[in-house]
Amino acid sequence: MSGEYKVLKDHGKQFVPNLRTQPVSAIFRGRPVISDSLTNNEIRQVSELCPSGAIDSKTGSIDLGKCVFCNECALMLPGKIRFENDYRISVNRREDLVIRPGQEGHVRLDETLIRKDVRKLFRKALKLRQVSAGGDNSCEMELNAAGNVNFDMGRYGIEFVASPRHADGIVITGPVTENMAEALDICYKAVPSPKIIILVGTDAISGGLFTGSPAVNRWFINNHDIDLYVPGNPAHPLTFINGVMDLLGIK
Ligand code: SF4
Repeated sequence: MSGEYKVLKDHGKQFVPNLRTQPVSAIFRGRPVISDSLTNNEIRQVSELCPSGAIDSKTGSIDLGKCVFCNECALMLPGKIRFENDYRISVNRREDLVIRPGQEGHVRLDETLIRKDVRKLFRKALKLRQVSAGGDNSCEMELNAAGNVNFDMGRYGIEFVASPRHADGIVITGPVTENMAEALDICYKAVPSPKIIILVGTDAISGGLFTGSPAVNRWFINNHDIDLYVPGNPAHPLTFINGVMDLLGIK
């Protein structure tokens, strides 16, 4: 027994004490900051460079739902575009993922759009079924990490479950391939109402680099209301956890 105490003492506290304020690496790419002094020529250059069409060729805005966080735009225009390591970038309105030149301040959920039954029913316990709809296992691994001993989202009753019948909602990763389109719909229908839909990662939110591919079928995404968008490529566990905490009203 004393040996076990010694192991615990040596390991110290492994969990992240405050998931809201936990610092991450300075080189982590989260919320972009775009100068409002971009010239038309600079906007044209970076929009042509961007591999995923995330930069608007007229305004210079960056759409975090399309961005793959490659950093190429910041390297082309240092001093005019940079990525802060602010990981709290989840939103519940698709338009709010578009960051405009000169936009400062944090990205947050629109409280008025959060369904009352979501907070009433799921605030103390939220069980989620994860569906990898053509994902590449990157977002899936980060979601897995969200429940590990470090991030430990289970402390708030947020957990993944094996069956959609035991779930309160689904978490979708991947661009939704044709082969997964029907399975995704079946899974969603198996979740009892009321239920929520969360999209995690660029591929799920917009199709990402697979936009326009005949192998992708976005019918489900385009025909359902989405409760939470969690951007990233892949999304950071803290982006996911903080987004869900905001959705549930956990301080
Ligand atoms: S970091 Fe995002 S916006 Fe910039 S070039 Fe890469 S994909 Fe485009």
